[in-house]
Amino acid sequence: MRILVVEDEEKIASFIERGLKEHHYTVDVGRDGEEGQYLADVNAYDLILLDIMLPKKDGVSICRELRQRKNATPILMLTARDAVTDKVSGLDAGADDYLTKPFSFSELLARIRALLRRGREEKVDVLRIADLEMNLLNHEVRRGEQDIKLTSKEYGLLEYLMLHANQVVTRTMISEHVWKEDFNSFTNVIDVHIRYLRNKIDKPYPTKLIHTVRGTGYILKEASS
Ligand code: CA
Repeated sequence: MRILVVEDEEKIASFIERGLKEHHYTVDVGRDGEEGQYLADVNAYDLILLDIMLPKKDGVSICRELRQRKNATPILMLTARDAVTDKVSGLDAGADDYLTKPFSFSELLARIRALLRRGREEKVDVLRIADLEMNLLNHEVRRGEQDIKLTSKEYGLLEYLMLHANQVVTRTMISEHVWKEDFNSFTNVIDVHIRYLRNKIDKPYPTKLIHTVRGTGYILKEASS
């Protein structure tokens, strides 16, 4: 799950970013209205956290423009003021929900989960291949009866592989979707994380699911051929 946070207050932005990453969300941060708008236009997000009071372009305008362009990504507005007008204009502009600052992180998480659930009504909440299961809402991963604890990067990598099960994914695809700007010159970073992931989800089990496609990348599938 990839979330865009548009927030100009450094402290709040890093608090949200850190917390969401700990909960296995992939996070991009836009520091002002223009950067936020740009990120929302070029990337596909599962949810956008949008502050209202932003330099360069305010959150309500961004929200309105995204909706005009048929961008249906769930939007949770953040407002510093408990002003009814802010909430109303945000909702009128097409936001799905709002949260007044200061807020507790657990409330933020609950709102995010609710919006993601709503957005996923027609999609699947649990990805499955063979006896491997990934719950996209509570982020639990299990193989058979065994709970598997993954780091955020391992989770992101496995989610990407599961969403593309039975398709070859190249290292370029993985680096663009799982690492993004964090990924730089270390081309073996992906291979190393694949190894970590294999140690957790494949090594203890007779049926291997992650297969290397020589010179190209990887494929997640049940058959061993
Ligand atoms: Ca602000």
